[in-house]
Amino acid sequence: MSDCVFCKIINSQIPSKKVYEDENVFAFQDISPQAKNHILFVTKKHYPDVEAINQTDELNNIFKAISIVAKQLGVDKTGYRVVTNKGTDAGQTVFHVHFHMLSGQRLSDKMA
Ligand code: AMP
Ligand code: ZN
Repeated sequence: MSDCVFCKIINSQIPSKKVYEDENVFAFQDISPQAKNHILFVTKKHYPDVEAINQTDELNNIFKAISIVAKQLGVDKTGYRVVTNKGTDAGQTVFHVHFHMLSGQRLSDKMA
């Protein structure tokens, strides 16, 4: 998608702080972090949201990448939170499916 900010990041048209990349997944630091570590995991293919990938292998691709990065960050034992926002009520602002991975500190007990 030519006007999608995350497609532009994947294609290096917009700079990002890359954390991880494989054939299917790209991960980079969120520009406005909400935890000590706040990383976004995105599919390299453009899909609008999580509904669009639930019948594909992409969920597995994403979670495999998250697991690798968790070990790299040393948070696989201490823990991390994964969040995806879908649609208006969840506050989705970028319509290229992405998963927030938050870690490196004790996270809020509240999720909403
Ligand atoms: P969401 O509200 O779930 O759609 O999350 C979108 C996320 O993308 C927000 O946490 C933003 O801070 C983040 N974001 C937007 N533009 C950029 C960018 N250019 N580089 C890194 N993160 C971004
Ligand atoms: Zn996109």
